[in-house]
Amino acid sequence: MALSAKQNLRRTMRERQTSRTVTSHLLPTFARVDLAFERGEGAWLVATNGERYLDFTSGVAVNALGHAHPRVAAAVAEQAHRLIHVSNLFRVPEQERLADRLCAASFADLVFFANSGAEAMECAIKTARKFHAVNGAPERVRIITFEGAFHGRTLATLAAGGQKKYLEGFGPVVEGFDQVPFGDLDAVKRVIGPTTAAILIEPIQGEGGVRVASNAFLRQSRELADKHGLLLIFDEVQTGMGRTGDLFAYQHTGVEPDIMALAKALGGGFPVGACLATAEAGKGMTAGTHGSTFGGNPLAMAAGLATLDVMLAPGFFDRVRKTSLLLKQRLAEMKDRHPGVIAEIRGEGLLIGLRSVVPNGDFVNALRAEKLLTVAAGDNVVRLLPPLIVEEAEIAEAIGRIDRAASALERTERPVKEGAPG
Ligand SMILES: *Cc1c(COP(=O)(O)O)cnc(C)c1O
Repeated sequence: MALSAKQNLRRTMRERQTSRTVTSHLLPTFARVDLAFERGEGAWLVATNGERYLDFTSGVAVNALGHAHPRVAAAVAEQAHRLIHVSNLFRVPEQERLADRLCAASFADLVFFANSGAEAMECAIKTARKFHAVNGAPERVRIITFEGAFHGRTLATLAAGGQKKYLEGFGPVVEGFDQVPFGDLDAVKRVIGPTTAAILIEPIQGEGGVRVASNAFLRQSRELADKHGLLLIFDEVQTGMGRTGDLFAYQHTGVEPDIMALAKALGGGFPVGACLATAEAGKGMTAGTHGSTFGGNPLAMAAGLATLDVMLAPGFFDRVRKTSLLLKQRLAEMKDRHPGVIAEIRGEGLLIGLRSVVPNGDFVNALRAEKLLTVAAGDNVVRLLPPLIVEEAEIAEAIGRIDRAASALERTERPVKEGAPG
């Protein structure tokens, strides 16, 4: 008798279980480290085996206020007891409040709330295309993007990112993206045509390896956009919400976008994304043009409001900038001490990349062995993403761990000199 699909699956699972140490019913799309946590506090995570880790990943730039921030935890708990969800069939006062505050703090007039970075980016792409459509130029759909970019894992945002390894095997690539080398203004000029709608830039490429766009490049992109009637979109999903030492990275570049995507740290750990736009850029997005069941739910909004309360308190960003300076100075010492491990230090605020000499995965593993958690990125970079509330003593602790990890790598990378004892 033929086996049912489910029986077949069970058999495959059993076969797999015999050949793997970690068995799981999860779709294995992540190459996970065999480590789990049961609680956290500030910059620290406690593993299920009781070991304490200094967390310089912050859930990939999400937990900007550290773990279990009392203000965020209380806001989420309190809101959960009142209302978690009502849908966008009705007004959501918390949504209006968070939109007001994001607009007061930025270039924007309008906000659409989503649940993730990719969704925020989808809204940004749709908003740019619709702007031209309602302007009588529906053929203007193409968006200029940059090599090394990352904009998410939906079909359109994958096409925008243009990474072959992520697109392969998923059928036709969504049309409408023209990719040029990062920071290459001449290439941007060459590719602008009658169907171009927008230029999409990460002010700092995060996943791409903490590659910082120069202010001159951003300014010239703005000028080009204005000259050709294009919209300028910034993907600040990773750089936004304080990560670079201002609420938004664009604020210290002197260049304002027309549309901006936010997510990662916006909810202080709670999933929420947002697409911000000027009234002009957003004018095509009328009733019925876009939507989300969960987007802007009261629970996510409470998390976002609490996060903003903390970040917008006087002195918060002064402290982030001071901590950043200290971390960069100490990392520069590490680079001088370990030239065989650390090639370069780059980034802004607390979005810092160490370009590694050894394979970056080895460096991340060596740091984890010292109980310091970091994230690999493109261009052989190790990303340091401490929570924005990290203390000076924790920076000193991290530097000690980086020093030990780099020394350990030197010992394994370089064979002991001939004749040396031992
Ligand atoms: C993480 C990230 C995204 C995607 O966010 P998700 O919440 O994973 O969908 C998009 N753009 C940038 C710059 C990011 O760093």
